[in-house]
Amino acid sequence: MTAIPFDNSFARLPDRFYARLAPEPVSAPSLIKMNHGLARRLGLDPATLETPEMVAALGGNHVPSGAEPLAQAYAGHQFGGWSPQLGDGRAILLGEVLAPDGARFDIQLKGSGQTPFSRRGDGRAPLGPVLREYIVSEAMAALGVPTTRSLAAVATGDRVYRETIEPGAVLTRVASSHVRVGTFQFFAARDDLEAVRLLADHVIARHYPEAAGEPDPILALLKGVIARQAALVARWMALGFIHGVMNTDNTTISGETIDYGPCAFMDGFDPMRVFSSIDHGGRYAYGNQPRIAQWNLARLAQSLLPLLSGDEDARLAAAQGAVDAFPDHFQAAWLAEMRAKLGIEGAEEGDAGLIEDLLSIMAEAEADFTLTFRGLADGSARDRFPDPRRFDKWAQAWRERGGRETDALTRVNPAYIPRNHLVEAAIASGLNGNFDPFEELLAVLSDPFTDRPEHAAYTQPPKPEERVYQTFCGT
Ligand code: AMP
Ligand code: MG
Repeated sequence: MTAIPFDNSFARLPDRFYARLAPEPVSAPSLIKMNHGLARRLGLDPATLETPEMVAALGGNHVPSGAEPLAQAYAGHQFGGWSPQLGDGRAILLGEVLAPDGARFDIQLKGSGQTPFSRRGDGRAPLGPVLREYIVSEAMAALGVPTTRSLAAVATGDRVYRETIEPGAVLTRVASSHVRVGTFQFFAARDDLEAVRLLADHVIARHYPEAAGEPDPILALLKGVIARQAALVARWMALGFIHGVMNTDNTTISGETIDYGPCAFMDGFDPMRVFSSIDHGGRYAYGNQPRIAQWNLARLAQSLLPLLSGDEDARLAAAQGAVDAFPDHFQAAWLAEMRAKLGIEGAEEGDAGLIEDLLSIMAEAEADFTLTFRGLADGSARDRFPDPRRFDKWAQAWRERGGRETDALTRVNPAYIPRNHLVEAAIASGLNGNFDPFEELLAVLSDPFTDRPEHAAYTQPPKPEERVYQTFCGT
């Protein structure tokens, strides 16, 4: 039986889109985790994926039947600085599968060895960041956030040399595609308009089929990506999620979250919170995420500009108009998210102010983001404020607007998020060979909206000595 029935559309694009090569073998592949639920969603049999042969394949030791392994080319703006050539330096796309519902997914190995795009890197991934990406990406999926997923984690039996020596691992990442804003930039920067057009056709067929019927399909594509990214970032904001490395190569065309390097969920609310150790200027701080997303989308608009229809003035006006519409898309999506979090129906003039007022008193008290919103359901939000008078005043306005303590609120405001200290503890234990905390954390996070008293500890913010102040890319 074929373990993975591949159907590889990206590999049918011209040679300059990638480098064809196989993963580099590892010493002793062993399975850390197989995501049975995701396997089934993809139409794959988890038991077949767990055979020694497939575990070895997911470690990179042989190419599974039907795969056409390749490293994708892309460029990108990193912290605002232009890098004309990035590409998969430590990842290999094995190919794509069609799920039973017809949805197409990339199957990619991350940490699979050097490629022509590795520059000075070793192409490997340490175990810690692999566990981190597994936990946080799966938590995001359970929270309903569009995201890449984690199908498997395989230990390599090899060491990876970073600040410390860590065991190596390979993550099997699943995405509806890995095409990024930086993929378009790669070709646009080379004035390879034919490639930009082929790539646009590829992603329209894959992610925006409705754009094909529009008078200007490229403009429709641009508008589609802008709308999806606006909705995505609004969702992040509503969960207190900080991506941490919103470079254009980490901005997908599909609208999925990608790259779980230095990301973090906030505990105490600070609108300008930064966790990433390399984000010195706070470029990717929580509160900057919407305008950074817009900046990234302006780079996409630039790349697509020559392909828009009309003369130069018309093309510029169309692209500018699409990018300028981002704040309205974002604001609408954000208001919808936040109204749901407050359990208020319809739309009223003062809603944005009501939301901002709550966020402002939360910031002042550094109230726990998740517990405050969750606590609206049972009245315990008040306990988040050392001096509850301002909260009481706010709660009165909330009630006047129709806000009530109801169970409905527990279906939008999660109890369980991947808090940094929990993630770090699960990783630390995994590095010592005990994956029980990793498994338990995954199980808790797979159902984030249902209170389970036995898991109450997972709802709590860190004790002072458990606080995590910084996160690392871990590349
Ligand atoms: P990231 O910071 O994960 O978005 O990666 C940015 C770029 O660095 C991409 O081109 C990666 O493929 C590359 N890269 C990151 N880590 C490594 C590594 N260990 N070896 C080779 N390339 C890497
Ligand atoms: Mg990346």
